[in-house]
Amino acid sequence: MVLIFGRFHLFKRQRLEVRDWCEHCGKRFRLQSYTAWEFYHVYFIPFIPVGRLRVMNKCPGCQKYLGMSIKKARDAMEEASAAAEQALAAGNVDEAIENAFTCLHFGDYERAEGVLSRLDPGDGRILLARARMLRMQRQFTQTEALCRQAISAEPENAEGHYLLAETLIESRQIDEGLAEMKQAAELAPDALDVRMVLMDELAKRKLWLELLPVMDEIVALSPDMSQDKHFSRLYKKAEKKARRKAATQADKNPYQAY
Ligand SMILES: [Zn+2]
Repeated sequence: MVLIFGRFHLFKRQRLEVRDWCEHCGKRFRLQSYTAWEFYHVYFIPFIPVGRLRVMNKCPGCQKYLGMSIKKARDAMEEASAAAEQALAAGNVDEAIENAFTCLHFGDYERAEGVLSRLDPGDGRILLARARMLRMQRQFTQTEALCRQAISAEPENAEGHYLLAETLIESRQIDEGLAEMKQAAELAPDALDVRMVLMDELAKRKLWLELLPVMDEIVALSPDMSQDKHFSRLYKKAEKKARRKAATQADKNPYQAY
C-alpha cells in the first residue's frame, strides 16, 4: 500500500503572483507567494497544523518554494520599510521603490502603497511600480490602464510596453499582447530577458516563423545559448516547422515564386 503523506497549505492570504522562471526547474510559471497555515496531510486530509508561514515563489510545476516563519517575514518587512523611509528622506526614488517591493513580497501591501503614495504620482517609474504591484495581485484592468498612461507620457518606455504585453497576454488579449512584447524588444535592443519571454510566448502558440528571428537575436546577445540543450532542440523544431509552413504557403499560391 502506498501511503500518500506530505504537507500542504490552507487559508491563503496576501497572495501575490509573478510570472517568471522557476529557479529550481528552470521553466516559466506563475510563481505564487502567500501567507498560509501549513498542515501535514495523509491522503490530502489535513491532520496536524505545522504553523503559519510566508511562502515565497511557489512553483506550480515542481512545487518547490521558499518557506519563512511569520516572524522572520515581518522582521524582513520592517527592515525594508525602514530602508524605504531613509530612501524617501534622501530623495532616492529607485531605492524607495525597491524597498516598497520588498515590503510587498513579505505580504504588506499597505506599507508598499504607503511608500509609493509619498512619491510624485506623475513620475513614470511610480506609475509602472504601481502597475507592477497591481499586476502581482492579478488586477489586470487597473494594471493595463496605468501602463497605457505611462506609455502615453513616454511612448518609448520599453518597460511600460513589456508590462502592458504581459498583462494583455495574461488577460487573454494575445495578439495585442504579442505586438506590445515585440515593441518592447525593439525599444530595448540589448534586453535578453524580454526576448526570452517573447520566445516562450511564441513557442507556446506555435508561431514558428516569428519565433526564429527572436531566437537568432537571443544567440547574438548571448552566444552561449546555442549550446543549451533545450534551446537548440527548440531551434531545430522551429526551423523544421517554419520550412514546412513556408512550403505549404507556396503550394497554395504557385505564382508567388515568379
Ligand atoms: Zn519549478
